[in-house]
Amino acid sequence: MSSTEVASSTKSSLALLGGPKAITKDPADMFTWPIITSEDEQAVLEMIHRGVGMSGTDVTKQLEKEVCEWLGVKYALGYCNGTASLLGAMFGCGVGIGDEIIIQSPVYWAAALPALSLGATINFADILGDTLCIDPADIEHRISEDTKAIVVVHNCAYPAEMDEIMAIAEKHNVKVIEDVSHAQGGLYKGRALGTIGHVGAFSMMAGKSLVAGEGGMLITNDQNIFERAAAFGHYERTGLPSMYSDGKGQITNPELKKFAGVPLGGYKHRLNQVASSLARVQLKYYPQRIVEIQKAMNRFWDLLEGVPGIKAHRPPADSGSTMGGWYAAKGLYRSEELGGLSAEKFCQALTAEGFETRPGINGPLHLHPALHDADVYGHGKPTVIANASRDVRQGPGSLPVTEGIAKRAISIPWFKHDRPEIIEEYAAAFRKVAEHADELLK
Ligand SMILES: *Cc1c(COP(=O)(O)O)cnc(C)c1O
Repeated sequence: MSSTEVASSTKSSLALLGGPKAITKDPADMFTWPIITSEDEQAVLEMIHRGVGMSGTDVTKQLEKEVCEWLGVKYALGYCNGTASLLGAMFGCGVGIGDEIIIQSPVYWAAALPALSLGATINFADILGDTLCIDPADIEHRISEDTKAIVVVHNCAYPAEMDEIMAIAEKHNVKVIEDVSHAQGGLYKGRALGTIGHVGAFSMMAGKSLVAGEGGMLITNDQNIFERAAAFGHYERTGLPSMYSDGKGQITNPELKKFAGVPLGGYKHRLNQVASSLARVQLKYYPQRIVEIQKAMNRFWDLLEGVPGIKAHRPPADSGSTMGGWYAAKGLYRSEELGGLSAEKFCQALTAEGFETRPGINGPLHLHPALHDADVYGHGKPTVIANASRDVRQGPGSLPVTEGIAKRAISIPWFKHDRPEIIEEYAAAFRKVAEHADELLK
């Protein structure tokens, strides 16, 4: 062998070190979301030509009816956004002054912070490293007299351990709010996410799996929660006749009905009907679209079965649990299987192969200064403890899995179509980087 042949045969195949890229094919619309057709356009056009009728609730109520049929729930209530639907769900569950909610710490702020505007505080729990969802074993010891609700986020589309959580909630008589913003249409042991707890809420903003543009939805089988939520932020449903409402109202409880005409929270949570028109068309095709996504994502993970360093973030195949639209799809990174290679370096190598990625999930909210020091309402002390009977703030080191998770999860391709030749290329890129990890350690 000549010296140049030796040099080329030992040269790395990794793109980061000068080798050829693993991903070369044009992915076309593999990652395009939402999928917009002329049917979506038509629905939006019709609505914007309605004039003042845009501000009604008739189309939103049709959407709500379709959501109820789809998920098998009694009540659905449209919201201007997911954050508002979570606020409504919390009020619906009776969260108020001096109460506590329990929620996982790595989480989008909107699932937690509405509790502060109701005068409650937030007790953050740790997560399970394999599901990225709340650790049921870290819930019970946090429950006190003041605990009103556990907010369960099906994080990055993974269905949280609902059986364990519901058992704890029942034992202590606290409500369970499911935040389904990442997992619309997902199942837990065959049951629709959002319908297992006392109330579900989800976002329909443009980046989520089920899209209205901006929008939210509350779902429940509990008439009292539904009526409280409606009374709080939907004045047009309280029974006040106006040009935006038939005046019939949806509230039967006399304790709430006597305040008809104004929203008790002082909020206007109505869903924009341009958005609900779009959402109706999106929902019509959503169940079939997520079947396709499910096939594509499972194909990707099946190809990577047994590859060191990277593990699927999905429930076992025979569990009856599914990932809905696989929002914010993640892989579990295990640097110890790759000689300690950092997640950053692994992601850099993947990016060089043609898939731009980085490590991490939503940040640890329990360490954010707003959850420690912000005096939002002028109480003269931090809002988070303004009405609380105890201080549940937690500093660095208190939630170890949460605080280490940025090194143990990475973004993976979120395929919207099951096209084997493209998916195989992406899987090959992951396999290549994992199998050449030692070259990145030098
Ligand atoms: C997006 C999101 C929300 C907030 O929804 P918006 O529609 O953006 O207000 C709440 N919870 C989670 C987990 C989310 O990802």
